[in-house]
Amino acid sequence: MTAARLSALEPAIFELAARRVMARCDELARITSTPGAITRVHLSPEHARVNRLAAEWMREVGLQTRQDAAGNQLGLLPAADPDAPVLMLGSHLDTVVNAGRYDGVVGVLMAIEVVRLLQRRVDSPARADANARSPFDFGMEVAAFSDEEGARFGKALLGSSAVAGTWDDAWWELEDSDGTTLREAALEFGLDPGRIAGAARRPDELVGYLEAHIEQGPELHARGESLAVVSSIASARRFQLVVEGEARHAGGTPYDMRRDALLGASEAALAVERICSAQHHIIGTVGQFEAFPGAMNVVPGEAKFSLDLRGEFDGERDRVWDQISRELDAIMGRRRLRWHTREVHNAPALFCAPLLQDVVSEGIRSSLVPGRAADRSILGSGRPEDPTTLFSPAGHDGMAIGAITDVGMLFMRNPDGVSHHPDEAVSLGDVALGIRALAEAVAHLGAEHRSTQGAS
Ligand SMILES: [Zn+2]
Repeated sequence: MTAARLSALEPAIFELAARRVMARCDELARITSTPGAITRVHLSPEHARVNRLAAEWMREVGLQTRQDAAGNQLGLLPAADPDAPVLMLGSHLDTVVNAGRYDGVVGVLMAIEVVRLLQRRVDSPARADANARSPFDFGMEVAAFSDEEGARFGKALLGSSAVAGTWDDAWWELEDSDGTTLREAALEFGLDPGRIAGAARRPDELVGYLEAHIEQGPELHARGESLAVVSSIASARRFQLVVEGEARHAGGTPYDMRRDALLGASEAALAVERICSAQHHIIGTVGQFEAFPGAMNVVPGEAKFSLDLRGEFDGERDRVWDQISRELDAIMGRRRLRWHTREVHNAPALFCAPLLQDVVSEGIRSSLVPGRAADRSILGSGRPEDPTTLFSPAGHDGMAIGAITDVGMLFMRNPDGVSHHPDEAVSLGDVALGIRALAEAVAHLGAEHRSTQGAS
């Protein structure tokens, strides 16, 4: 497969593929546990339904399908050499509560279209055929991960962690809001928890992992561009913080005698905003906030809040956390309060592999129609031959898969940057460009792979 032959495909073919992707996003959006909204959590009846549909669509483009022990839906197009490694392409099919219709879903459906398009060049239509083979030295495998969001059990990346072999058996005891454990849910879904290790892949089985995803931020929209190469996925730390003061009568306690934990925590939340907004590429969010005892006529004696802190680089993120800690010491000292914290999550940044960043860049370049590149240079958004590179403050399956193989990502413009919300959007045109860029990226990787294999 050469990129040149892929480029010979009519733009209308990519648009047709994008139309199918958009229609299927709508179809999957109707599979929800909450009528009128989109909610599709791990190991639910809705999860089983979307897996069945995705498997049908995978088989339609010649993929051999199976569901692994973690409920991931996989589709394989093997290479001619049965021992050859595979390039994994995909994203996730689960959603947050009251989600949009594109986060994750669009990446899985685009991967299926890419497999369809890349086979087109060998023999016209793709066939649902056990003899279909990848046009490259490596196989292609579409992965529809079962749990990326963690909406049901509070632990994200369950599906891709199983594939990465980083599963922790303690997770089986995690409970959902109804008290159902992950183990019980897996059994009910028809999975065998004893076989979870079988979902793990070895590094030598994989060439890499490529994912297309909507941006979930406003950067591409602001730049007037459709696509970006992702350089890294955010390094994140999460904390539960507790502020302790003294609960006292709201009427009888003058201000100079109060040790109001809620006011201390409020000042802390504002300090997080002040400190993080003065930084480049660091973002801190206080998303949970509670006061105790929580009575109208009592000065709050205790306050609890969460902090989600993300950055492009681990060191910078840690330096900002140190700065926030010092500020909290100062605030609580002034207010005669005590504070302590428990860290509940700490993930290092995942850097996308240089080779995969290069092929995604090549793919984006090839997808830009002539004239469009010129427009970009007029807009002054960098040299037209250099696609925009963004880091992802949002987490993705690649964070888990990065433990066993190289990761590359392509972002598509998300108008106004709204995501994890019903208004989440992506345009047909950007999806068409994204499909083309992703297919070109795989073709470039195929050519690259062939030349390095030949040279060794
Ligand atoms: Zn996602």
